Amino acid sequence: MKLHFPIDQLWSQVRKMGAAERPYKLNVALADPLPDIVNRFNEGGAEIELKDVETMGGLLSSNGAQIVLYIPDQGQNIDQVLENGPDGKKVHVADCQTLEQMRQRNRFQRYRALVNTSGDFEVFGYSKNTFSSVEGSARLRVCINCLKHLNYRGYVSTPARKGEILSNFDLKNFFAHYSSLFRYLPKSFIEDKGGYAKNWKEVSAKFRESKNFVCESCKVDLKQAKGLLHTHHRDGNKRNNGEANLQALCADCHRKQPLHDHMYIKQRDMAIIQQFRKAQNIIGSTTSWDNLFELVDSAFEGLLRLYQKQGSAKPEIGYEVSGASGAVVAESEIAWPSAKFAVVGNPDDKRNLESMAWKAVTLEEALREFRDRK
Ligand SMILES: [Zn+2]
Ligand SMILES: [Zn+2]
Ligand SMILES: [Zn+2]
Repeated sequence: MKLHFPIDQLWSQVRKMGAAERPYKLNVALADPLPDIVNRFNEGGAEIELKDVETMGGLLSSNGAQIVLYIPDQGQNIDQVLENGPDGKKVHVADCQTLEQMRQRNRFQRYRALVNTSGDFEVFGYSKNTFSSVEGSARLRVCINCLKHLNYRGYVSTPARKGEILSNFDLKNFFAHYSSLFRYLPKSFIEDKGGYAKNWKEVSAKFRESKNFVCESCKVDLKQAKGLLHTHHRDGNKRNNGEANLQALCADCHRKQPLHDHMYIKQRDMAIIQQFRKAQNIIGSTTSWDNLFELVDSAFEGLLRLYQKQGSAKPEIGYEVSGASGAVVAESEIAWPSAKFAVVGNPDDKRNLESMAWKAVTLEEALREFRDRK
């Protein structure tokens, strides 16, 4: 089912700003009831066979939710695993080489699929110490092939940072990094609104107004979508509301601040910010590589870095392809207009681009091409 953005008014404003009107597949509001199966993924998880796991943008998914996979049965290794989680079987977070091999060999493994942002996993096994079944919770480590597949935070393209990326890996941040790709976000993402001063709403509104609703980082003007401009505390202290400590940031620049890795963004919001950036010439053919990395939807950052690493020409992000009538026919995330080649977020855009004699691949297909090349 395709959902359309309910506030028509906003689109008319977007149009006025010069951006094209296009419907987007949207994340469902967190307050909306989740389908039963998605609820189960959020609460303990559900057994799943590898063949039933879907993929989205190189990630693992089921029924519109991003999931991770692990094997609860640690066998006779359980004593060691309970003592030291990283010694256990690894958690898969992407459509990695290991899972691909498992699939090809048709190996039957009991995986549990779940939405886990805590990093604690229920495990069991047969103890060699007590000669009995034991169970408990372990902090299992993420599969390295998964990080490679996604080039997560530059895991492949900046080898010097590998160790740091692995040791800092945090599932909550990981889910937030890819939040724009999924309809159902983790339940644990219900925002923590606590810790602010009583008059915060007024302070924030006044401050953003004083900045003319322009993001102080990317400079996008959000007068027509004021809710997407946040007030950020530079020192991280939500009660330090001195003007020098405040900064007006769009939702995308905000989530990319240090120590904000856990901040997610909804598909719709990311799409709106990119449309305004495009309409205001903040992104365009002259944007430098460094700025591209800052402005790209983080779900596409790993792939963008792989293109840079292999020496590709500098692409455009958020590029819209128009038809003969001038109306936008397809939206791409990463594009090389002169080569008529683009990476898109959803299959509809791929079809539309192909009908315009473009070559298009989804994020998923592009990552797989890099994976299978090795
Ligand atoms: Zn893996
Ligand atoms: Zn910004
Ligand atoms: Zn902040």
